[in-house]
Amino acid sequence: MSQSQQTIEPWLRGIIRCPQCKGELTDALHGDGDSQVAELRCDTCRLAYPVEGGVPVLLAELARSTDS
Ligand SMILES: [Zn+2]
Repeated sequence: MSQSQQTIEPWLRGIIRCPQCKGELTDALHGDGDSQVAELRCDTCRLAYPVEGGVPVLLAELARSTDS
């Protein structure tokens, strides 16, 4: 377990919303085993925004599509 550095500051986590639909984001992990990365998912837009070093990157062009 080495996900501590991926933790988003609670005050920040409380205010961030999807930049596209302003909806709430769901905490999630993407990947397998040791290569899991934190991300924030929007079920409405079907996008997953990356979290880098505990900082959410809320840019649609950098988001991963969760549509499959
Ligand atoms: Zn959205």
